[in-house]
Amino acid sequence: MTTPANLNLARGRTRPLDVARVRKDFPVLERTVHGKRLVYLDSAASSQKPLPVLEAMERYYETTHANVHRGVYEIAEEATALYERARAKVAKFIGAPSPEEIIFTKNATEAINLVAYSWGRANLGPGSILVTSEIEHHANLVPWLQLHSEKGVELRYLRLLPEGVLDLSQLEATLRGASLLAITAASNVLGTLPPISELAHAAHSAGALVLVDAAQYVPHLPTDVTALGADFFAFSAHKMLGPTGIGVLWARRELLEEMPPFLTGGEMIRDVRLDSFTTNDVPWKFEAGTPPIAEAVGLGAAVEYLECLGMEHVREHEQALTAYAMNALEEAYGKQVAIYGPPSAAERAAVVSFSYKDVHAHDLAQILDGAGVCVRAGHHCAKPLMRLLGVPATARASFSVYNDESDVDALVGALREADKVFS
Ligand code: PMP
Repeated sequence: MTTPANLNLARGRTRPLDVARVRKDFPVLERTVHGKRLVYLDSAASSQKPLPVLEAMERYYETTHANVHRGVYEIAEEATALYERARAKVAKFIGAPSPEEIIFTKNATEAINLVAYSWGRANLGPGSILVTSEIEHHANLVPWLQLHSEKGVELRYLRLLPEGVLDLSQLEATLRGASLLAITAASNVLGTLPPISELAHAAHSAGALVLVDAAQYVPHLPTDVTALGADFFAFSAHKMLGPTGIGVLWARRELLEEMPPFLTGGEMIRDVRLDSFTTNDVPWKFEAGTPPIAEAVGLGAAVEYLECLGMEHVREHEQALTAYAMNALEEAYGKQVAIYGPPSAAERAAVVSFSYKDVHAHDLAQILDGAGVCVRAGHHCAKPLMRLLGVPATARASFSVYNDESDVDALVGALREADKVFS
């Protein structure tokens, strides 16, 4: 009932991505901005949504909406079934052993905060050591800085090398005595893909748990949380063709069982008395209040859509497009363009952060907007990394399943406009 999987796409499953066909599923791509074709190159900030996702949410509201886990009447039970079915789809999509290990949150940020507040405050204190890296998004940094200032937790950092990858030469020493490694699986600025399974192995050998910020990973690469060796795994629906307002925390069941609740109130309880309460089973123990039901339905549809495309094909397509973009920028502008991050597209997710001459990234983005090209400009919620790069901001083009070479060509062409304005 949730998703009329696009049959054309389903047929294309074993073939490489047919971008022309995929684009037809994204109505927003038909619009123009400033009289120009919309060229959307900001999917790392938030992706666009295909028709099956929009339709699943609309159909849910039109036919089935009721609160979940409460009513005994038919549509309430249907709504509950849809919500729980979405949980099962997400579990399968990321290789989670059980749907009950999937917690729906508001976004990746809330998923990481859940771990910091619940597991972190129960398990970390003065003298505890937490290892993270210099390339983290603020979402995987500020919660730990907060624990540092509140509880005296020591923070250690894996450093960035000039090649755009993390320095793992001191990994063992850095992890010695640590309780948690909190690490991104894909940098939203550099595209860097740290070797998560290798890092997880080292962390576990040192007795540390592993939290993976997978906000930029799950939308773009085949994912298997067990093979990656994660203990906690966080991501957002809105970057993977799903709606805003819902994110996911996956964690190993034993950890979830032991963790105290994060938010409290309705639905997360088993019993309440005037002097005490007992908690519900996982995952509901962590889902206080009315959850994002339509959003879960939309996320389920997004997962089905990506499964129809095949995540190997998604990765293949986006890697090729990233390589095309890096080459095209270099060929057109040589050293006038500085591209940050690993030199090879095989070593990065589908993002290309760059500077152009000494033009400020915001000015650049504004000129590109005039040509219908949407790129992100700013510090990308990674201020420590910007300081390391020695720039206040970069421009960033990022890709998804609906982008093709013509979008990159539009970006490269629009940069010439910047040349005219600023020379
Ligand atoms: N981690 C990374 C690497 C991200 O790119 C983002 C979003 N830019 C987040 C975490 C946070 O995601 P959200 O804003 O959806 O919580």
